[in-house]
Amino acid sequence: MRVSRLMLVTLRDDPAEAEIPSHRLLLRAGYIRRIGSGIYAYLPMLWRVLQKVSAIVREEMNATGALETLLPQLQPSELWERSGRWQGYTAGEGIMFHLLDRQDRSLGLGPTHEEVITALAADLLRSYRQLPVCLYQIQTKFRDEIRPRFGLMRGREFIMKDAYSFHADEQDLKAAYGVMDQAYRRIFERCGLRAVAVEADSGAIGGSASQEFMVTADAGEDLILASPDGRYAANQERACSRAEPAVPLATTAPPTLLATPAQRSIEALCSAHGFDPSQTVKVLVLLARFASGGPLPVLVSLRGDQTLNPVKLSNAVSGRCADAGALLSLEPITSEQVLAEGLEPWPLGFLGPHLPDALLQGAASWQQRFLRLADPSAADLGAFVCGANSLDHHLVGACWGEAMPTPDTADLRAAQPGDRCLHDSEQRLEASRGIEVGHIFQLGRKYSSALDACFTNEAGVEEPLWMGCYGIGVSRLAQAAVEQHHDANGICWPLPIAPYEVIVVVANMQESVQVELAERLDAALEAGGIEVLLDDRPERAGVKFKDADLIGIPWRVVVGRGAAQGQVELVERRSGERQELAASDLPAQLIAVVEAGRLGRGAPSC
Ligand code: ATP
Ligand code: MG
Repeated sequence: MRVSRLMLVTLRDDPAEAEIPSHRLLLRAGYIRRIGSGIYAYLPMLWRVLQKVSAIVREEMNATGALETLLPQLQPSELWERSGRWQGYTAGEGIMFHLLDRQDRSLGLGPTHEEVITALAADLLRSYRQLPVCLYQIQTKFRDEIRPRFGLMRGREFIMKDAYSFHADEQDLKAAYGVMDQAYRRIFERCGLRAVAVEADSGAIGGSASQEFMVTADAGEDLILASPDGRYAANQERACSRAEPAVPLATTAPPTLLATPAQRSIEALCSAHGFDPSQTVKVLVLLARFASGGPLPVLVSLRGDQTLNPVKLSNAVSGRCADAGALLSLEPITSEQVLAEGLEPWPLGFLGPHLPDALLQGAASWQQRFLRLADPSAADLGAFVCGANSLDHHLVGACWGEAMPTPDTADLRAAQPGDRCLHDSEQRLEASRGIEVGHIFQLGRKYSSALDACFTNEAGVEEPLWMGCYGIGVSRLAQAAVEQHHDANGICWPLPIAPYEVIVVVANMQESVQVELAERLDAALEAGGIEVLLDDRPERAGVKFKDADLIGIPWRVVVGRGAAQGQVELVERRSGERQELAASDLPAQLIAVVEAGRLGRGAPSC
């Protein structure tokens, strides 16, 4: 392919809209153009990258025995009503684009396909003899992300490979999950990516176990916490650790009232009175809104030195309120909201775990009881300091008991870098950043039960199918590769997913010797099965070299002054290493290194 035919427009300066290197480079090197917020055109060279990634994904999926399919993107709301996800995905912070058709039928644009595939399974799968079965597709997904950003990393329209498996029992599901885990590791390795598998939160998809694959990069949106011994790694949303033991507080039974004027924060309280934050219990009040029923006030008790993990809290609240349908939002309660409900003001900043339900009596719309939850680090305290439920006062020496019943406990604290690990207290969690490129789930029977997807087991009894689902962000992966593989001059594509493998640069288009030799080399390499770009633009050599570096083709052949003597220069993009060699030797030598590179030889493993 000739560069002059490629519509290549490279940018000298960094586009203002791009915050991270990979986004900047994809724009500058002419791989993508922004069409709207979170909406991008994949230009021809990026499309080649995406097709290469897809081909690797397809090969590895096919190797597991999965069948490729293509499901509709327009999905009837009725299916999502049946799974109970329509409200959660369309109301509040829901991310599904949805619309009414000309007959006023409600439809959504697929953010994911559990509902559609489960409806198909209900229709097509009858007997254990048909199981297990796994279907996958590579297709555009739509998500009205709250904060689309970083180019293809968080688009509103993006390409995903999603696969769904169906099983007769849980054991078989677990086995398939293991096979997918291995296939995913091979995919990332073959794409030339360093990726790590981490325990993950299952989010709105649901199910029991799930694991994410993270491409490690400083610009990653996710925080990974891992033990140095390699035995534990988790997304911070999900990570668990040991809280350090609390500094004991001398008991002062009965608890005493302490004047704490304007000391609303743990920091202010502790610095004024010399308490250690681990001796205190802080109380957070939040409002949970669900798809059905009135908003529910939630009262959370945390040890003062700990931080709340909002994902764990959402899971704990949803799990305890399954009857209310999807949890739409969970936000701190403000004093304005309290007043708007027609309630007496609350002494925010001075609340204790014993805040009475009576305070909610007469609320206009809220339920008139608190859902009370405590993290074990707070629930395990003997005596502690907490708000006295009266303005400018705290209680010292409070204890769980009759006056202050221990709330329902749940792991709610955010694990932090430096925390001791659960599996070995000598190991401390270390932090790194990652880009989530894949996520695999054991869904269990959540969707099959809801959508009545049953099969007849060996004993002749009908039961819901066991399901797994497995996603890879194909377009995000392409950008993650740039994030992991670039330098000051531009992109350094891993060879297996590079848009072209070799670029032949004619230094001076006025010199027919150079042009003729370059064309001969281009033809010889093409004939040897190499994907070649020929930079035939009438530009200065320096401009072409800069562009070649920017677009990141793994090998550059420069046909310049040496052409008259049959000499060319070969430059490896990644290392910058250059060598002079006889043009006649070049094709055979280059074909051999490119073929080795395609196999991902030397690519780091998961
Ligand atoms: P995130 O936490 O980043 O929002 P998710 O957990 O909601 O992602 P999944 O439902 O697990 O995403 O989707 C499977 C894969 O699709 C993800 O691992 C990710 O690689 C990709 N993906 C998800 N959302 C986007 C997006 N908005 N843009 C590009 N890729 C995405
Ligand atoms: Mg995910």
